[in-house]
Amino acid sequence: MKGNNQNKADSNYQLSTVNCKGISKAYGNVQALKEINIDVEAGELYGLIGPDGAGKTTLFRILTTLILADKGTATVGGFDVVKEYKKIRSSVGYMPGRFSLYQDLTVEENLTFFANVFGTTIEENYDLIKDIYQQIEPFKTRRAGALSGGMKQKLALSCALIHKPTVLFLDEPTTGVDPVSRKEFWGMLRNLKEQGITILVSTPYMDEASLCDRIALITNGQILKVDTPQNIVAQFDKILWGVRGNNMHKLLTDLRLHPAVASCFSFGDTLHVMLNTNELTTTSLTTWLSEKGHQNVRIAPIEPNVEDCFMELTK
Ligand code: ADP
Repeated sequence: MKGNNQNKADSNYQLSTVNCKGISKAYGNVQALKEINIDVEAGELYGLIGPDGAGKTTLFRILTTLILADKGTATVGGFDVVKEYKKIRSSVGYMPGRFSLYQDLTVEENLTFFANVFGTTIEENYDLIKDIYQQIEPFKTRRAGALSGGMKQKLALSCALIHKPTVLFLDEPTTGVDPVSRKEFWGMLRNLKEQGITILVSTPYMDEASLCDRIALITNGQILKVDTPQNIVAQFDKILWGVRGNNMHKLLTDLRLHPAVASCFSFGDTLHVMLNTNELTTTSLTTWLSEKGHQNVRIAPIEPNVEDCFMELTK
């Protein structure tokens, strides 16, 4: 059994890798991408993690052959993005950041449309989308424009999958989607990965990074680091404390003034404080803060998350 799977993986290998070498792209004076190198393995769930304006959409548009890079080369499924763009277009699925659906068409009409464009039918590839599409099928006569964010997302994913792509590009698929639908969506991606599809997904949400096999941290058109989320977190070697108090805004401002504080950022209801020394104790920091009028200050060492690592790398 194991041998069969291995053979299957080998024969699909060329079909579903993604490689970029020295990809650069500028819009006028804006250098959107600078010398990007990535190698996505067949069957990986690979995350492109970075804030707005980092260059994620530009890279996806180059890889899906919608725009040309100024410099560098890239292949998707072994096909060159310039010379063999037609082969790429028929073998990849792309879910753009802004929903690509036709708002005036119904759920079913949207799906039929995308199936027709790729010369297939809903029935032919129903197996692949079944788990996702079944959740919106009861609303198949509803106009796409009248669907909730989570339902639109499921329809857009079904449309991107209907021609059975070998590689799937998802540009910020969970932006503007409620937390429950976001969680469900990542469950669906895991299932698709199990079926052998290579998935590149971009997100500005750092908490989603830990759900990928490997991630590339990107900002200002440059990749800072590529590794598994676990390795990225394990390589964080600074002292990190979580700090809470009565006046969080003033606490943030004051902590940034302390000479031993390398950085301080707000994460939900806690401030993450990275130190530039191991000499400082929590007691002395508490005393320093109470002298500045802070009450009920609680300080405790915490484990870093991917966002802490991102902040550290961008410093
Ligand atoms: P992200 O998807 O990470 O938000 P983008 O690839 O959309 O990043 O944008 C990268 C940079 O390129 C940003 O500074 C953005 O303003 C700029 N940019 C993107 N598209 C265009 C365009 N069509 N014309 C000019 N600048 C653009």
